[in-house]
Amino acid sequence: MPELPEVETIRRQLCDAGVEGRTIERCRIEWPRTVEPLTPAQFSRAVGGRTIERLRRHGKWLIVELDGPDNLLVHLRMTGGFYGTHGRLKKGPHDRAVLQLSGGLNLHFRDPRKFGRWRLGDHPHGLGPDALTVTRKEFFRQIENRNSPLKVLLLDQSVVAGVGNIYADEALFEASLDPRRRSATLSAAEKSALHGAVRKVIRAGVRNKGTSLGTGQGNYVDLNGQSGGHREKVKVYGRAGEPCIHCGTPLQKTIVAQRTTVFCPQCQK
Ligand SMILES: [Zn+2]
Repeated sequence: MPELPEVETIRRQLCDAGVEGRTIERCRIEWPRTVEPLTPAQFSRAVGGRTIERLRRHGKWLIVELDGPDNLLVHLRMTGGFYGTHGRLKKGPHDRAVLQLSGGLNLHFRDPRKFGRWRLGDHPHGLGPDALTVTRKEFFRQIENRNSPLKVLLLDQSVVAGVGNIYADEALFEASLDPRRRSATLSAAEKSALHGAVRKVIRAGVRNKGTSLGTGQGNYVDLNGQSGGHREKVKVYGRAGEPCIHCGTPLQKTIVAQRTTVFCPQCQK
């Protein structure tokens, strides 16, 4: 499931592919639920003829800034991703939407599981500061007056935007904090460590162009069809039963907030 580093990788590649500055000549919606509550016709009309001015990102949302009112807001959810083709449009089997851009570039939104969403709006609602850039001060402010288990806190997009299951487990391991620990029990030093850990694992993910967990058709691939390079760098996520890289204790699996969570019972307090 794409998290911040995967979306950021896609954003950068779309920029490199020269998407900014092009006009949407035609928008074809292949799977109507992708653009609900609008109908495909309404959606296509709303974005047709508009120019893509800039590609931004907040948390896991890709924000396609358009000229005029409203932007195109894209959430990849489980399996969404983009690829580009040139010239005459030839649809792929999992295409849910295609933007035909000026200069003959077609931008295909591929989404085997069909949970991805396209919305129109100024900015996605209800998001906390972005996990890649959140400052220590902002982070402290966001977790003050909360008392959820740390794993729940990190997954809450209104606290900090962009962290999902993989990077939450990695950040908690990096900060040596038990995922079940309640946030109100953290000392200032521990809060600081958690903030530093979130920034560190997210930055590393971006540097490695995201994480792919398998090779199935639903797994994350970037714009060029490449898997992320971060899989080998993951220290706890998906490694239950394997030895902790620091102390050798077998990593444990538990469920927090209905999400599988892996941690080292020895290192994480
Ligand atoms: Zn350990």
